[in-house]
Amino acid sequence: LVSRKRRAEDTVIELGNVRIGGGQPVVVAGPCSVETRAQMDTVAKGLQQQGIVLLRGGAYKPRTSPYDFQGLGVRGLEILRETADKYGMVAISEIVTPADIELALDYVDVIQIGARNMQNFELLKAAGSVNKPILLKRGLSATIEELLFAAEYIMSRGNEQIILCERGIRTYEKATRNTLDISAVPILKQESHLPVMVDISHSTGRKDILLPVAKAALAVGADGIMVEVHPEPSVALSDAKQQIDLQQFADLMKGLLESGFLP
Ligand code: PEP
Ligand code: MN
Repeated sequence: LVSRKRRAEDTVIELGNVRIGGGQPVVVAGPCSVETRAQMDTVAKGLQQQGIVLLRGGAYKPRTSPYDFQGLGVRGLEILRETADKYGMVAISEIVTPADIELALDYVDVIQIGARNMQNFELLKAAGSVNKPILLKRGLSATIEELLFAAEYIMSRGNEQIILCERGIRTYEKATRNTLDISAVPILKQESHLPVMVDISHSTGRKDILLPVAKAALAVGADGIMVEVHPEPSVALSDAKQQIDLQQFADLMKGLLESGFLP
């Protein structure tokens, strides 16, 4: 179902007045985790000034260590919703449990399935049973084929609104957090009719190479990029090292607009 052979035209996901796929690239931005109302308000306000409509923020955080901040849960979803409504933005957040998919419908406009859950088949089935766009991230060690099969799980249950996201894969290279598989983008676009995004934050784990990496993603045909932005990255409760502040985000946007990579 996700194959180009079954459908030649690009799938376009409509979210308010934003369209993901089939033309103009989009930018998803926001903090790694929803932490406080004030944090979300500051970041959303700054992003809105940059013309950003797609707001991300994690409420359920799949952390490597059980002692690390696990996210605010439903309270985080509430804060994200309130903030998105205040600024007329679209709310995107990760859900990690099949049982929470229904709950998420009241709070988010796009349900994210994270890298660690790309092959949580019960979660994929639950995501396939709702009428809400799904942003499906590639697993840490998943092949392109496995990512497409994961999307197939969702679509075979009836939900056709899927956005694929390349977020880097595990390799021996240590200069970046993961290795951005840039060729996955044109391959996914060729094999599938679904929109494809690139997460430049989790793939690189750095903030100093985001502009060239974003340009590369858009140059190979990505329908959008995702980037983590925090009002004060040094005190962020998760992914402090890779999140950029609002000024750095403004510079990134300027670089992409001036070079014609964003309209
Ligand atoms: C995220 O985007 O919040 C996240 C945890 O990313 P990933 O699932 O790609 O690691
Ligand atoms: Mn993160």
